[in-house]
Amino acid sequence: MVVTVDPKARPCPGVERAIALAEDALRRGETLFSAGELIHNRREVERLEGLGLRPVRPEDFSDRGMRKVLAGQSLLLRAHGESEALVSRARGYGMKIVDATCPIVRHSQDLVLQHVREGWRIVVTGDPGHAEVKGLMARAGENGAVAANARAAAMLDVENRTLLLAQSTVDPELFAAVRHALAKRVPGLKIADTTCRFLKNRQADIRAFAGPLDFVVLVAGRSSANGRLLYETARAQNRNTFFIEAPDELKRALFKNGHHVGISGGASTPRWQLDEMRLFLEEIGNSPKGLKNRKGGPFLWRMLKKQTKTK
Ligand code: SF4
Repeated sequence: MVVTVDPKARPCPGVERAIALAEDALRRGETLFSAGELIHNRREVERLEGLGLRPVRPEDFSDRGMRKVLAGQSLLLRAHGESEALVSRARGYGMKIVDATCPIVRHSQDLVLQHVREGWRIVVTGDPGHAEVKGLMARAGENGAVAANARAAAMLDVENRTLLLAQSTVDPELFAAVRHALAKRVPGLKIADTTCRFLKNRQADIRAFAGPLDFVVLVAGRSSANGRLLYETARAQNRNTFFIEAPDELKRALFKNGHHVGISGGASTPRWQLDEMRLFLEEIGNSPKGLKNRKGGPFLWRMLKKQTKTK
């Protein structure tokens, strides 16, 4: 079995920066909180928690009992942003803000604030439950609405002064469909394509990577929107694509001698998780129990038989 790690797979700049800021603050000995999962990768978050990162729920900021715990400590703003209300409450507790908001998300937040001030209606294409969309909606207030798809966009209450933008990790094709549906109803629609360029490039890369392989293993956190997007992109090229969070979810029996297996990752997947998956697959490849030939027979037995004959 041949195992290849996608040479273009790496965490996006926003996630890399959030992890680096967390590690730096923890190295300095700060007591560092994050309001929810720092990034959408449970196992990387667990690693950071092992270094001292302390997740709290956004609602804990309104809990009187938590006030004493949070006062004077540090709060890391996640790559996909926080609401202004939460940040101002944290400042009110005397918390030090470590801002890991990705510049692309910050740009969307600024666009929303500027247009709301000028009386525009705001429509965001994305998942209403996603932290980034919640942060944008909190800034838009009564002027904001979420369109999860083109059908929802066709039913929205809109005005001529409407700004359409996207959750950064949304599929560009979905954004195009919403844009099309809304443009038919709003002649003066203003469009800001805030889908992330890094992800668009990764989609192109993963299409080229996935095509020629027997199997693709996409390693990403279950809750990762970008991981799901890259999985679906790879799967459109190669039906034998698996979305995996940790190696123990893979069925060893799937892999036969002669298979070429590729490993790739989402924008929140650190390098150590790709290496861990590579070692796991290589170990299956080297194990006589784990590896069978393409017809399902025991690989080692056939190999030994062949060796005996040639001696
Ligand atoms: S996926 Fe794109 S927008 Fe989201 S954190 Fe990464 S670089 Fe920023």
